[in-house]
Amino acid sequence: MKLVIIGYGPGGVAAATAARAFDRDAEILLITDETIQAHRKPGSSLALEFPDSEKLFIADWSYDTLRKKRIEVSPGVRVISADTGERTLQTVDSKGKSSTISYDKLVLATGGVPAVPEMPGVDLPGVHTIQTMVDASRIGETLRDAETVIIVGAGFSGLETADRLREMGKDVHLIVRSRFMRRLLEEPMSDELESRIPPGVIVHKGSSPERVTGTDRVKGLVVGSEEMLADAVLFMTGVSPNTELAKTLGLKIGSLGGVVVGPTMETSADGVYAVGDCVELMDRLSGKPMLLPVGSAAARAGRQAGVTAVGGKKVYSDTALKLQYDRIFNTDIVCIGHSSITASGAGIKTKTHYLDDPAEFAKIALVTTKDDRLIGGQVLSARMGAPIAYQILERIESGAKLSEKPLLKPRHERIKDLLENMLGPIG
Ligand SMILES: Cc1cc2nc3c(=O)[nH]c(=O)nc-3n(C[C@H](O)[C@H](O)[C@H](O)COP(=O)(O)OP(=O)(O)OC[C@H]3O[C@@H](n4cnc5c(N)ncnc54)[C@H](O)[C@@H]3O)c2cc1C
Repeated sequence: MKLVIIGYGPGGVAAATAARAFDRDAEILLITDETIQAHRKPGSSLALEFPDSEKLFIADWSYDTLRKKRIEVSPGVRVISADTGERTLQTVDSKGKSSTISYDKLVLATGGVPAVPEMPGVDLPGVHTIQTMVDASRIGETLRDAETVIIVGAGFSGLETADRLREMGKDVHLIVRSRFMRRLLEEPMSDELESRIPPGVIVHKGSSPERVTGTDRVKGLVVGSEEMLADAVLFMTGVSPNTELAKTLGLKIGSLGGVVVGPTMETSADGVYAVGDCVELMDRLSGKPMLLPVGSAAARAGRQAGVTAVGGKKVYSDTALKLQYDRIFNTDIVCIGHSSITASGAGIKTKTHYLDDPAEFAKIALVTTKDDRLIGGQVLSARMGAPIAYQILERIESGAKLSEKPLLKPRHERIKDLLENMLGPIG
């Protein structure tokens, strides 16, 4: 049995390692057109600071570690087409050499491509997105000498970049079309997050950019009727599924533009699976498709595809559950499962419950179905994002109703009590 996996991100690596754990004998080959080994997708702030650094290295994914598990990695090799009837792939390597590779089972984990709004000037030097390490190095170079930077988009990446650039002493302008993390956070949570933005990041809310100005390189950005001048413009406006190869293979593409997959990540072609940013997953509550371009979801889908591809029967229930976590503006920001906005898009009616813990500078939103089942949660907290997130996740996974299993007073309260018994009031 020969399993071939295309893609060296969390989806591809998880598929390879899960397949190996289930099948000690299968031949497993992982193909990637990247040439830099085993790196974390550059979180934008890390990319700015360490574009070539070992800080982005993931030891568990190195060629050597994978080889020890008898997973072969072929770097610098691009898959250009395939014959799903003959079960062969056509590839070309970095020196232009073509080859044909056969497979019994195939996993596509080809990731996403930056979604940049269409407008004049987006190709000018000094306008950037971050998707790969090459982008990271280029962006790091531009930003070294830039004084004024405009960031378009107030999602995780945009805010993380704004925070880091502010710390680096740049003038930062953040263009926010409607509100902060509009699809991920309830409106009061968005407002709370905005209130935590430190001076130094100038927020422009309510308008969309119309065009990038400049002739040889970027000069500014027109937003509304105003031209804002800048040395660099960063579009942090999300990703779309990279389905270039999937389309060549004739795989079915869904209404959201991702590869259509079933519960075990199988595609419309026999023996071909797809995972990660290139697919649309089925929301288990609404049965509707959704895009879930986050690393944790890619890894869970990869595990499912890897296990199934080598004959495992297990179907995991958490493949379409997402968790995003970051620490920005000295705040833990956690988004789990559905917000009321994504739920409403999927036709699910919700109620939102808010909890405040001023002592911990925490605000929590819990999203339940009308019959009280927890389907999502959001946390903004000075330092306790993880323990609170854990409780939310556990309740979503167990299908618990909030009335049966209310959120515990966060564990840190107990730790705080202990400390206060020893030390006296700690505020
Ligand atoms: C700047 C940035 C920061 C992020 N931060 C976070 C975070 O903090 N937490 C989080 O959960 N997620 C984060 N994400 C999202 C996360 O990185 C992605 O969801 C995840 O990498 C998707 O994994 P994947 O396996 O689907 O694809 P990718 O990781 O995108 O990998 C795609 C792979 O496919 C290969 N490939 C594509 N086409 C071909 C071809 N034709 N032939 C050969 N190889 C091919 C590529 O070279 C690459 O190796 C971030 C993303 C970005 C861009």
